[in-house]
Amino acid sequence: ENLALSSKQTNTHTVLKEIFGYSEFRDGQNAVINAVLEAKDALVLLPTGGGKSLCYQIPALTLPGLTVVISPLISLMQDQVAQLQALDIKAEFVNNSLTFEQQQNIYQRLHQGDIKLLYVAPEKVLQYEFKERLRHLNISLFAIDEAHCVSHWGHDFRPHYCRLSELKQHFPVVPMMALTATADTATRRDIVQQLGLNQPYIHTGSFDRPNIRYTIEEKFKPLSQLMRYLKTQKGQSGIIYCTSRKRVDDISQKLADAGFNAAAYHAGMSNEQRQFVQTAFSRDDIHIVVATVAFGMGINKSNVRFVLHYDIPKSIEAYYQETGRAGRDGLAAEAIMYFDPADIGRVKRFFEDIEDEHRRRVEEQRFNAMASFAEAQTCRRQILLNYFSEYQREPCGNCDICLNPPKRFDGTLVAQQALSCVYRAEQRFGLGYIVDVLRGANTSRIRDNQHHALSTYGIGKQHSNEYWLSVLRQLIHHGLLNQDITQGASLHLTEAARAVLKGEYSLQLAEPRLQAKHIYQDKLA
Ligand code: ADP
Ligand code: ZN
Repeated sequence: ENLALSSKQTNTHTVLKEIFGYSEFRDGQNAVINAVLEAKDALVLLPTGGGKSLCYQIPALTLPGLTVVISPLISLMQDQVAQLQALDIKAEFVNNSLTFEQQQNIYQRLHQGDIKLLYVAPEKVLQYEFKERLRHLNISLFAIDEAHCVSHWGHDFRPHYCRLSELKQHFPVVPMMALTATADTATRRDIVQQLGLNQPYIHTGSFDRPNIRYTIEEKFKPLSQLMRYLKTQKGQSGIIYCTSRKRVDDISQKLADAGFNAAAYHAGMSNEQRQFVQTAFSRDDIHIVVATVAFGMGINKSNVRFVLHYDIPKSIEAYYQETGRAGRDGLAAEAIMYFDPADIGRVKRFFEDIEDEHRRRVEEQRFNAMASFAEAQTCRRQILLNYFSEYQREPCGNCDICLNPPKRFDGTLVAQQALSCVYRAEQRFGLGYIVDVLRGANTSRIRDNQHHALSTYGIGKQHSNEYWLSVLRQLIHHGLLNQDITQGASLHLTEAARAVLKGEYSLQLAEPRLQAKHIYQDKLA
C-alpha cells in the first residue's frame, strides 16, 4: 500500500509539472493532496491567491473517477473551466446558462467517463434528478469551493450550501474537500459540522498579505478626503466600499461628476448592469468601483491597487475579505479605512433590529472586535492576524501605525478648553457645534444662542476643525464626555471631567491622525 501511495505521489508531482507547468508545490498543497489520495476528508484554509484550486485539481487528474466541484458563482466556474480546457484538461460545468442540448451532451460524456472535473452550482447538485445521475457515476472526490457559504455566521451565507451535507449522506465513502479563504475560527468550525466532514485533514496557511498596507484615517470630511486620495491614484484600479446603496449611488455620481472613471455596484441594480460593471472593471475600462458588500467573490482581478472603506465594516472577517481583493498580484497595494468613532454607535443601533437573539449577539461580538481594531493604536497587521489566531511577535512595518507611530502630547489645556466650552454651552450641543464655538465660527446658530459672548468662544481658533473633532472624540473615549444619542448627540461632562478641569492631573492625548497629510504631502506640496 505504501508503495502504491508513493507512486501516486510521484504521479502528483508529474501532473504539477507536466500539466500545470509548476516545479514545486506551495506550502500545504502536497499534504492536502496526499490526504485526499488516502480517501480522507480535508479542509483547506488558504488566503485568496494561495493556490486552493490545485488542491483538488491535481487529485482530480490522479484519481480514477470524476471530481465534482461545487462553486457558487457562474462566472467563477466559467473562468476555471476555460483555464483548465486551455491546458487540455477534460473539465466542464453545468448550470442553467447551458441549453438543454449542451447539458445532454455533457451528461453523455459523463457516463462515458470522458470528463475528469465537473463544476456545478449547489442548487443543481442537490436536485433529485442530478443526484440520481451522480449515483451512476464513479465519483472520486467532492470539492466544495467557497465553503464558508455554509455558515450562517459567515459573511456570505448561501442557503443551498447548508444542504450539501446530503452529499455526504448519499456518498459516505467519497472524500470531500472544503476550501475557503475565510480565516474566522467560528466559521471554520461551522464548515466542518455543516458539511459533515469526517475527521478532516486541516491545512491552515498564513493569512498574512504582506504587500497590503493597512491604514485607518480619522473620518472628517470623507468625500474630500476621498477625492484627494483618488487624485494620487490616477489610472489605478480600486474599490470603494460603502454600507448603503444610497451612499454608493451618491458617491459614484459625485466621483463621475468630478471626472473620475468610476461606476456603482450594488444589489439594487439589474444583473446586466452589474455584469457590465464587473466586466468593465476586470478589463480596466472602469478604474473605480463604488460598491456595497455585494461586490465580492466574483472579482477575479489581480491588479486592484487599493480598497477603501468609506464606512466601518461589520466584522474583521468582512474587512479582511474585502481588503484582500487588493494586490493579488503581490505588488504593493493599499487598504484604507475612514473611521468615525460615532459610527460605532450607529452600527450597534442597527443590530437592535435583529430578532434572533443568538444571531444578534454574534453580530455584536463580531462588530465589537472590528470596533476595537479600528480604535487600536498598535500595529494593524498584528491585531488582524492575532484575531485569526496567527500570532505575530513583531510589528509589521507596513501599516500606518508602524510607519507613522501615534505621537502623544500633554492635552490638559486643550481638554480644559473643550470641557469648559461644553459646560458653558449648557451641555445641550453636539460635536460640530462645540467645535464651531471653540474656533469662533460666525454662524447664525451661535449668534442666536448668544454663544459668541462665551469666554470659550474662539479660544481654540489656532487649531483646525479636524484637530478639535479629534480632541473631543478622545475626551469621549477617555470617559470625560458622554454623548447622549437620544438628545441630538449632545455632549455632557462626566464626573471624571471635574478633576481635569481642576487641573488635578495631566491628560495625555494622541495627536490627531491626519493621515491624508502624511500620505499625500508630496502631492500637495
Ligand atoms: P485561490 O483559489 O486560493 O485564490 P488559485 O488556486 O486561483 O488561488 O491560485 C492562485 C495562483 O497561484 C494561480 O495563478 C495558480 O496557478 C498559482 N499557483 C497555484 N499553485 C501554484 C504552485 N504550486 N506553483 C506556482 N503557482 C501556483
Ligand atoms: Zn504594522
